[in-house]
Amino acid sequence: MPPDDKSQKRVERLFSDIEHIAQQPLSTGGNKLTERESVSPVTNEAAVSSSAKNTSTALRELEALRSRIRELETQLNIAPAPATLIYEKEKVGYVYSDDHIMPLPMADLPLENSEHGIRTPLTASGEPIGEMQIEPPAERNWTPEEKELANSVAQQVSLQIQNLRLLAATERARAEALSANRQFTHENWESFMDGIRNSERIGYAYDQAAVTPFTASSPDQHDLQETINVLDEHVGNLFLKTDPARILTDEDKAMVSTVARQIAQQIESLRLLAEASRARTNAEEATRRLTRENWQSFTNQKNDTLSYAYDSIQVTPFGKTQIPQDISFEQPLMVRGELIGQLTVAGLKDVPPGAIELANNIAEQVSSHIENLRLFELNERRARELETVAVVSTTASTVLDPDELLQSVVDLTKERFGLYHAHIYLADESWNTLLLASGAGEVGRHMVMTGHAIQMDKEKSLVARASRERIALIVNDVRQEPDFLPNPFLPDTRSEMAVPMISGDKVIGVFDVQSSATSHFSQEDANIYTTLALQVAVALQNARLYVEQSATVAQLRELDRLKSSFLANMSHELRTPLNSILGFADVMLEGLDGPLTDYMQNDLGLIYKNGQHLLHLINDVLDMAKIESGKMNLNIEKFKLQETIEDVTSITSALANEKNLALFIEPDSDHEVEINADKIRLRQVMINLINNAIKFTEKGEIAIHVAREANNVLISVKDTGIGIPIDQLESVFQEFTQVDTTTTRKAGGTGLGLPISRRLIEMHSGRLWVESSGVDGEGSTFYVFLPIEAKIKEDEPKVK
Ligand code: ADP
Repeated sequence: MPPDDKSQKRVERLFSDIEHIAQQPLSTGGNKLTERESVSPVTNEAAVSSSAKNTSTALRELEALRSRIRELETQLNIAPAPATLIYEKEKVGYVYSDDHIMPLPMADLPLENSEHGIRTPLTASGEPIGEMQIEPPAERNWTPEEKELANSVAQQVSLQIQNLRLLAATERARAEALSANRQFTHENWESFMDGIRNSERIGYAYDQAAVTPFTASSPDQHDLQETINVLDEHVGNLFLKTDPARILTDEDKAMVSTVARQIAQQIESLRLLAEASRARTNAEEATRRLTRENWQSFTNQKNDTLSYAYDSIQVTPFGKTQIPQDISFEQPLMVRGELIGQLTVAGLKDVPPGAIELANNIAEQVSSHIENLRLFELNERRARELETVAVVSTTASTVLDPDELLQSVVDLTKERFGLYHAHIYLADESWNTLLLASGAGEVGRHMVMTGHAIQMDKEKSLVARASRERIALIVNDVRQEPDFLPNPFLPDTRSEMAVPMISGDKVIGVFDVQSSATSHFSQEDANIYTTLALQVAVALQNARLYVEQSATVAQLRELDRLKSSFLANMSHELRTPLNSILGFADVMLEGLDGPLTDYMQNDLGLIYKNGQHLLHLINDVLDMAKIESGKMNLNIEKFKLQETIEDVTSITSALANEKNLALFIEPDSDHEVEINADKIRLRQVMINLINNAIKFTEKGEIAIHVAREANNVLISVKDTGIGIPIDQLESVFQEFTQVDTTTTRKAGGTGLGLPISRRLIEMHSGRLWVESSGVDGEGSTFYVFLPIEAKIKEDEPKVK
């Protein structure tokens, strides 16, 4: 066999021995490892086999841990040296001259400000970090291109420096993470050493035949020494004494260091395993504690007997105070290692052989059965409770009156959870109090009536504390609480739980529930009630917002009504004097009050024209106000549409003639159709549409067309004017909207004509809209669509 193979074999054996050592402490109970017990893996076969299952799981865990360690090791190997801070902390300068780069001594910073030099700032993230200066050779000035080039070089340099800074910061962060990792390993090892209660060294000697404990600090003589490191932490040494007949080759040495590394891995695995097993023990202990507590609260809730006697004929409840006589033997009832009861056999003269074993079996079966029943009962209760939460919160979210909402929540909660009492306090921050807002039943209502309140900073109150600490608080037996303040209305309260109602980050109240049984509330109840309280809080906030919103809407409605009625009154008051101004101006213009000079004629003309304009405006405002306050009434009558339209065209034709526009009714129109509508209002709409068409058309024509469509008529007014941009086809129907204020100012107008027209047509259950390409000269077409029999729609006063 070649020597290399031989040593390979030896290493393999060494490994398998180490593996044995690794398994040993686990099979004997993990942390009970002592030096004496664990040294001889070969002779401890029995222990190994008795826990073969454990071992295979442990081996799997070991493998997983090993690969994790390998992963850490690779990370460690690629980590570079920590980066310096040079780019951030120190002032540095470099000179590039005659093809050389040299560091600039600090004394030379900054350079003299020469006349010909270029100075460009260096920046990083917008902050100045330095300066680049370029000196031309003597007697030479920079060209603009060169200056620009210098600028872009400075930018590049800035970028580069910024990159280097970022790189340095990243490297530093990595180095910090690495050292934190090392620190962690170090601390873990220290606690491990403490954990195995051995502040001295642990050592083993292996002499090809057996592994034996080794207590000296280090061997007297050794030929080779290797350190054992776990993540750079020195945790031990491997000493080698060689065969005098054989000198160690380089390969041998390399192998030894591999062995040392492998040992390190094994030891680390072992430590991690010990830790895992400690965690397991803790978890088991926690489960047992939970079992114990759950059983305690379970039995506390059962106020009646929990003992039964079976006398081979029947099962009868057995009083708490009765003590069984003549006990033959007893068997404990255990669940997960916790004592939950006792099986007692009494009155046997002689205990037959096998009876104890039988009783033991029975006790085991009974235990697991009782535990199953308890869990079943618990699950059922939880399911019922969750259902109740759903019912209560659904109800809460459908009630929009906050008081009613809270009342239904407390009543439902009390009834569905079978409680003695339930009530809700709401926080009133300005008074620093919790005010009782609703209480279940008569008692609750009475307490609310009397204005029951608790100061938020009250030391002893459970409710006040829950609001301060923002968690559910439970008192399991109020009689045991020296601080408990009994409520004369609730004499039977035995246990109580106060749950904060949190919405956003604010405690808006406290949900307080009480039971007449001690220990009624568990931590799980706290979770359930917390969920409920959260949902109630959300529903309450919604209801409050709803109330607030409805109040605002009502207020706005009233304001709007007041505004419209004010406008209606004002317009009326304005119209009377205005009519007399117009009337007298007209009289004077006619010359009835005597001859006028040219100036007087001109001025009076202006007074008359502007007065007319003002009258239009007032009429429009009055109409709008009437419509909005719901005071516009339609006078429906039957009439021939053709007559009204002819009437309108004759009124407006003078204006059209002034602008040389053709205004006509299309010959193929329906001349016969009769409709039921408010004649005066329809006339108003048509005048408005035709006037607009004339106003916004400079040349061409205005054509009116009437067509009957089933039980409706469609009237269109088509012009060849400036048109309306497509995106404004709707907005022209909004009050005071004008497409282009310059043209309109020229044309005159209020921006109320179309909105009023639309509302009037809509009151007839009709529609008014416009179509236009928006191209000047192509014009626009306004359409009025009316039912032949107007169905009057009462226009609701609207809120804007
Ligand atoms: P106004 O009193 O300003 O005419 P309207 O409500 O009647 O108020 O019209 C609103 C705006 O709609 C006008 O200012 C104008 O910009 C646009 N408009 C109405 N009719 C036409 C039309 N036939 N052609 C182009 N634009 C029009």
